[in-house]
Amino acid sequence: MNSAQLFDRAQAVLPGGVNSPVRAFRSVGLVPRFISRADGSRIFDVDGNSYIDYVCSWGPMILGHNHPEIREAVERAIGNGLSFGAPCELEVDIAELIVDMVPGIDKIRMVNSGTEAVMSAVRLARGFTGRDKIIKFDGNYHGHFDSMLVKTGSGALTGGMPDSLGVPASLADHTLVACYNDLASVASLFDSNPGQVAAVIVEPVAANMGLVPPEPGFLQGLRDLCDKHSALLIFDEVITGFRLATGGAQEYYSITADIVTFGKIIGGGMPVGAYGARAEIMELISPLGGVYQAGTLSGNPVAMAAGLAQLRYLRDNRKIYGDIAATAEKLASGMKDSAARHGIAATVACVGSLCGIFFTSQKVTSLVTAKTSDTGAFARFFAALLDKGVYIAPAQFEAMFVSAAHTDADIDYTLESINKVFSDWS
Ligand code: PLP
Repeated sequence: MNSAQLFDRAQAVLPGGVNSPVRAFRSVGLVPRFISRADGSRIFDVDGNSYIDYVCSWGPMILGHNHPEIREAVERAIGNGLSFGAPCELEVDIAELIVDMVPGIDKIRMVNSGTEAVMSAVRLARGFTGRDKIIKFDGNYHGHFDSMLVKTGSGALTGGMPDSLGVPASLADHTLVACYNDLASVASLFDSNPGQVAAVIVEPVAANMGLVPPEPGFLQGLRDLCDKHSALLIFDEVITGFRLATGGAQEYYSITADIVTFGKIIGGGMPVGAYGARAEIMELISPLGGVYQAGTLSGNPVAMAAGLAQLRYLRDNRKIYGDIAATAEKLASGMKDSAARHGIAATVACVGSLCGIFFTSQKVTSLVTAKTSDTGAFARFFAALLDKGVYIAPAQFEAMFVSAAHTDADIDYTLESINKVFSDWS
């Protein structure tokens, strides 16, 4: 069956034909490609096409697809059974490794997704501080649980508004929404909700409104505001964790958060999330403390084996970070030059192995400026690249992920393709 036929079948039994919305290609108006296998920097669809993949499963595949060391670790783990529902050594191994690699974390709890990690971290912050309100940023994504599906409300004194049907307004009231890279908007929320804010949660590098780097001083400013108001700072490192550095954005920007959430890379491609903090905070979690959180499949041995293999590889090959960042920089500067040569208004960002392009001449620092991008142009860009065998995220407001498996030849081919697309436009 080809992708179109599979999509027809899928739409009859899966809402929108997919198990996660952005996969449906709706914002670019195309039929999603059904993928049959992946290897190195490439994915292969059921229609017989191969693509250089800059989605990398939305981040986990930092070493590329089907990495032999991770596959072998999974195969070994499978030989011992799939799930125990009881403690196993692999859970201790990965916890020790993460605590060792990441600044400021004494203890970690494994869960099954990034959403679960953030949901639990928010509950922990509320439990620790005895306060209910959380400040988040417009355009930052923290998974699909109720308290984070909230957008800007009508004023600084009120909470946010539900950003999805099914989110009670009374719950959204506890989530205050600030503007990314705008410390004054955070300070004003603190001032108008004195003694009520449990935590500020932030994507240290925003990668869910396209790629928007933090402005110099922004993350330190958040740290200072949290300290001033005795609130916790939560770094949502589901994307940046083990991607920017072995110590994630905390290490990259030399800022220590109070609670850090992880997902994606720590599972090596298996469904995993985690949250960690200093002992005093983590010891509030059940069974030690009064913040309840549990999971039947948490610490699953096969998932732990995959994550452990990937993290060990990263720890032992730290040079990879400089290499991938150089590859991403080559891609980003090539895109930028090509757009400039062809007179196309584009803003390109690159942080470590993350890249992004907006079709706007404005500097993009927030959701408001990200939204000045011409999404029609992005849809045309996406379709033309797909046609040439280059697979980027099928939506403007996502990032491009570069892995250690992307070769110079991959980048050269990608840039040639981009050049052709832009030259057809101009
Ligand atoms: N936090 C961030 C920063 C994310 O990018 C995502 C997902 O992309 C999540 C949380 C939610 O993770 P998951 O999709 O594993 O639930």
